[in-house]
Amino acid sequence: MNVQLVPFLMACLLSTVCSEGSVDFCYNFPECNATTWPTIAPHHCNGTRQSPINIVTADVKADGNLTAFSFTGFNDNSTLLNIQNTGKSVKILLDDQKMSVSGGGLQNTYNSKEFHFHWGNGSSFSGSEHTVDGRQYAMEMHIVNIRADVSVASADESTAYAVLGFFIEATNDSGKPESWKNLTSFLSTIPKEGDSRDIMYQLTVDSLLQGVDRTKYYRYLGSLTTPTCNEIVVWTVFKDPVKVSKDLIDLFSNTVHINTTADPFITNNHRVLQALNGRVVTSQPTSSASTHHLTLSISTALLYYVFFWCL
Ligand SMILES: [Zn+2]
Repeated sequence: MNVQLVPFLMACLLSTVCSEGSVDFCYNFPECNATTWPTIAPHHCNGTRQSPINIVTADVKADGNLTAFSFTGFNDNSTLLNIQNTGKSVKILLDDQKMSVSGGGLQNTYNSKEFHFHWGNGSSFSGSEHTVDGRQYAMEMHIVNIRADVSVASADESTAYAVLGFFIEATNDSGKPESWKNLTSFLSTIPKEGDSRDIMYQLTVDSLLQGVDRTKYYRYLGSLTTPTCNEIVVWTVFKDPVKVSKDLIDLFSNTVHINTTADPFITNNHRVLQALNGRVVTSQPTSSASTHHLTLSISTALLYYVFFWCL
């Protein structure tokens, strides 16, 4: 072997080994889009409890354990640390020492790490990840929470993450609501991948979720929706959407770029729907379901009464 080639070969070998550990994916280029994700090691993206899914409301089962959540730090404007362009999405880093989620049928307390968004292309091309009876919303917001007793390095347990999903529905207003006008005003400061801007004391997570009844949600077990698609997520998808005006939604797909400002804007950063594979989606028992149950019970009691009276 040519001795001069050895350093070159070593460098190649090292770069191969290193790149195997990194997770390089994209949404819109053939060489790295979702069709290639199952080849990214470790191979979770072709698993059997993947996300997102279409929620078929007729198949949702009632679960009385899906009680109200307890949200800590969601009304505190010091918990949003900075807003980042990741090249795949817009991510807001949270202070996980101050923010957490418990209750809501979760078995543990989960610390809130970050939230980010998925969108289509302008408000005309929807981009939520989950759908309900085939309906796709304009955008989806994911608040990512990690179980307090789990370290990220060992986050391979089936309930290590609790992600809260919120649909964003487009309205014909402009500049509304104020909290979203405030949040989206920072997008122009992070046009390139890796750009980051401090947004402490500007707004609260609660203010971004106004109009959502957080006691009404769907629950199922799924995965991260980006590689390496680990099947470690307890999913909560809230039924009510956050209503945001079209002009603000449009800013996501015409302000932040996938890399430099010479590269395309980030658009359609949502994963295709995944197979349910026998999983069950649950939700709170509806009042109509309990009324129906009560009617049945009364009818049965009456039948018994008549039956025994006849004897
Ligand atoms: Zn997400």
